[in-house]
Order: sequence, then C-alpha cells, then structure tokens
Amino acid sequence: MSQVSIVAPLYNEQATFPHLVKRLNALMDTSDLDIDVVLVDDGSRDQTAVMMSDLALNDPRYHAVFLSRNYGHQTALTAGLAVARGTEAVMVIDGDLQDPPELVTSFYAKLKEGYDVVYAVRQKRKEGIVKRSAYFLFYRFLASISSIKIPLDSGDFAMMSRRVVNVMNSMPEESRYLRGMRSWIGFKQIGMPYERDERIAGEAKYSFKMLWRLAYNGIFNFSEYPIKFITNLGLWTLGFAVIYLIYNLVRKFAYDDVPQGFTATIFLITLFSGVQLIALGIIGEYVLRIFFQVKGRPLFIIREQIKDSQPVGQGEV
Ligand code: UDP
Ligand code: MG
Repeated sequence: MSQVSIVAPLYNEQATFPHLVKRLNALMDTSDLDIDVVLVDDGSRDQTAVMMSDLALNDPRYHAVFLSRNYGHQTALTAGLAVARGTEAVMVIDGDLQDPPELVTSFYAKLKEGYDVVYAVRQKRKEGIVKRSAYFLFYRFLASISSIKIPLDSGDFAMMSRRVVNVMNSMPEESRYLRGMRSWIGFKQIGMPYERDERIAGEAKYSFKMLWRLAYNGIFNFSEYPIKFITNLGLWTLGFAVIYLIYNLVRKFAYDDVPQGFTATIFLITLFSGVQLIALGIIGEYVLRIFFQVKGRPLFIIREQIKDSQPVGQGEV
C-alpha cells in the first residue's frame, strides 16, 4: 500500500488523458514518495473508460473506478476518496492538469510539518475575465455569509491526511461541497499559493448550470444566513407596515386627507409578493436538502473497479 494516493475524476477526458498519464508517470518515476493513483470515470461517453482500464490493467500503480453514470465532479471525487488507500495522505486534482500534480512533494512536506490539510490557493487564474470575476465575487460573498470559515480562492485541489479523509468518508451529506466540508473538519490547515494552469486539452466540463449548482450548495449547505435574512426582512417589513398604517390613520382622522396613491399600493403589493416568493424559495431550498438527505440513497454506485481495493464509507459496489 502506498503512502500517498492521488485522486483524479475524469468525465469525457480522452483528449487530456495521455497528457495526464505522462505527467503522473514522470512524477511517480522520480518522486521519493510511494504514490498510487485513483482515476474515477464519472460516466464518460467517450474513450476515457477504455483508456483507463487499459492503463489500470497494465500498471499496478493505477486504480480505476467506473461509476454507473455521470454524477458530477463532487460526487466523483467522493467516490475517489472512498476508494483511495494512501496510508498517509490523499491528494485531489482535476483530471485536466489545471492542478499541477508535482505539488505533491511540497504538500507532503507541509503535512509532515504537522498539518492535516494543505489546500492550494489560486494566485492567478488563466480563465476569462467573466468567469474570474464571478469566482472572485462568489468566494467573498460566501465567506461573508458562511457560518464556518471557508478559505478564499481555494478549490478542491488539496492534500488531506488519512484521518481527515476518513472523517470525510464518514460524512453522509447528500449534496456535497467538498471544500466546505474540508474546512469544517478542522485540524491544522494551511493554504499554499499556486498558479492554476490552463486546461491541457479538451473543453471545460463544468457548464454554467453546474457551477451555479455548486455555488448554491456552497451557500445553502454552509450558511443559515439566507433564512435569517428573510426572517429579518419580514420583521422590518412588518414594522414599516405598522408605522405606515399609523401615519395614514393620523392623516385620516386629524386632517381628513385620504392618501390617493393607487400606484403606490399596487407597487407595494407586487414588491412584497416578490419578497414572499423569494422567501418561500429560500425555505424550499433547505427543505429540498432535507428531502434528498432523508432518502438516504448511496452517494454513488460503482459499476466496476479495477484493482482489489474496496470502497469504505459511503457508496455501494
Ligand atoms: N468532471 C467530472 N464530472 C463532471 C464534470 C467534470 O468528473 O460531471 C471532472 C473533469 O473531467 C475534470 C474536473 O472534474 O477532471 C474539473 O472539470 P472542469 O475542468 O470541466 O472544471 P473547471 O476546471 O472548469 O472548474
Ligand atoms: Mg478544468
């Protein structure tokens, strides 16, 4: 069993796959660490799965896990973490080489200094300005409303000690936001700056919709602020309505000048209907999470696995 496992999720990555394997091989050939790699096929529809099994059957350092369908990046990582056997640590990277795997050495050195989580902090993003600013704003917004401290500008690229991985594997939450769960676990954590590379080949698999969902999970899984906010908003609105009522009563009885504002009435009704719908939506968001969690379904289903390791924690084989 190796010291460190590297976990990489792959979804339709046939174009990046050869590059990934080349980099990982070069790394494992030269590193002093004893490393193995867990590749997770997240229901790819191209040649990724075939390439993965060829590799895993021929090279003992590679394990291949094939999920029963496409579950999404976070769940694919969850499956990888459940299967990874690295006795000391597990490092999580993207399969498109945006996260340089060579950092395993410096991450591991930090781990040996007594840290349990070493997470990468992006210095520069090489993505377009729109995506960059969206990320920038989102992380700051999330930090300001979140009930736990989630480091800014850090993604899933990180190394976690065996005990942190074990805790993570035992967390049953259905909608997963791994970087948040990782912070929640605690122990000593440290950020390491790095420059995020461009994707080596192929297209980004995260659609806008998926990023939106990830952002939603970040907010609703780690913050009670939205629900507090609507309660407060409701109270303020109520206060305002009472004051407004008193004001109008005084005007009616003291001066007998009835306010005429029909427009204002309609506007207020529309405005507060909107506020109420948003409030219901926010409550719905939390209820939905309870609904999915209560079903207690396995987080992922493994269709096939090459190598002997059995998943622990969540999930079904
Ligand atoms: N990925 C996955 N399942 C998905 C979408 C993406 O396993 O449903 C993998 C993908 O193959 C890549 C990593 O997650 O290795 C990050 O995806 P991508 O590069 O598309 O995301 P971005 O870099 O744009 O955040
Ligand atoms: Mg990418």
